[in-house]
Amino acid sequence: MRLPIYMDHHATTPLDPRVLEAMMPYLTTEFGNAASRTHVWGWHAENAVDTARAQLAEVLNCTPDEIIFTSGATESDNMAVKGIAWAYRDKGNHIITTATEHKAILDSCKALEKDGFEVTYLPVDRYGMVDPDAVKKALRPTTILITVIWANNEIGTINPLAEIGKIAQEAGVLFHTDGVQAFAKYDSDVEKLHVDLMSISAHKIYGPKGVGALYIRKKRPRIKMVPLMDGGGHEKKLRSGTLNVPGIVGLGKAAAIYLTERDEERCRVGGLRDRLRDTIMGNLDYVYLNGHPTERLYGNLNLSFEFVEGESLLMGIKNVALSSGSACTSASLESSYVLLATGVDEGLAHTSIRFGLGRFNTQEEVDYTAHLVIQSVNRLRELSPLYEMKLQGIDLSKIEWAENAHH
Ligand code: PLP
Repeated sequence: MRLPIYMDHHATTPLDPRVLEAMMPYLTTEFGNAASRTHVWGWHAENAVDTARAQLAEVLNCTPDEIIFTSGATESDNMAVKGIAWAYRDKGNHIITTATEHKAILDSCKALEKDGFEVTYLPVDRYGMVDPDAVKKALRPTTILITVIWANNEIGTINPLAEIGKIAQEAGVLFHTDGVQAFAKYDSDVEKLHVDLMSISAHKIYGPKGVGALYIRKKRPRIKMVPLMDGGGHEKKLRSGTLNVPGIVGLGKAAAIYLTERDEERCRVGGLRDRLRDTIMGNLDYVYLNGHPTERLYGNLNLSFEFVEGESLLMGIKNVALSSGSACTSASLESSYVLLATGVDEGLAHTSIRFGLGRFNTQEEVDYTAHLVIQSVNRLRELSPLYEMKLQGIDLSKIEWAENAHH
């Protein structure tokens, strides 16, 4: 077994060697610009982009011309939310989203609020799930867009997209989803999911960084969109900029791999995740599972370890790459807004660790990680006076200072 172990696959994934192989010609000899129509380099590049578009279309069950390539899901999310908002401004100014979206959605909504749009941030239940009925109740005559994350990047909870999509469809409101964490790993048929727009990122599915896509439905309804980028008119004038051909080839290949390996991978990685969860929870008390018990990403495990600071725990298990909260907010020691939205109290949120298992993890790595976590938690708890009191049966809620010390 090689150390350190990578177990942070929600932050990013390694490039699959098969993806790199598909990309290599376009990083070397086939360096053409896909917009060059006058020579063989351009034609080859364009063909490669067409192939990738077809690969994504197969996974999404859409037509290739419904896919717009972007620099990643942050751009796709911005494009969907702002592009729709401004295109439909004459129809209404209300957007429905959720409290547990990625910052790319939340901050896009906040930016729109400054420009006079109104946004409803729906709460989630204790498992981090959105209630489709709440979406229905939030609808107004002025609602122009519903955007709900498919699977959460911190706690892994998978939202009931098809149900929400049906509600949107019946109300005649466009439905976007940030599909980053679930795309390709789960059945991504946009017809079954009733989705009108979906953001996708290559580096979460063993493809390269800096490339993504936005699926935009072409018919029933035909969607209008205001572009974020002005320039050469690439991608049907919706996203100007020279196409990242090697990246796009990698995205297509990465998605295509899932079509044949999806079920096997779900079983294998899901089994490893369950083993990790059962070993840790079976050997430690005061450990709590965050997120939904069953409706969650098969590679995701998010646990709170009472009486242990998450940061100290991470320091104790340096040989394993894990995350406390999401990578995007880990620079600050603020509690995860996703965990807080599920009702986890601030103290417990600070003790949370996200395990993100992926394609290349092994059982040996899982067992090693579980062992390290158990050992490290036990060691840290030995130093915790609160844990000692808890063991002695003292009611900590009666101790005034305990609450603060615990934070
Ligand atoms: N949405 C979700 C749910 C994510 O997990 C991420 C990645 O951190 C993003 C959006 C942003 O994707 P990208 O890194 O491609 O900009």
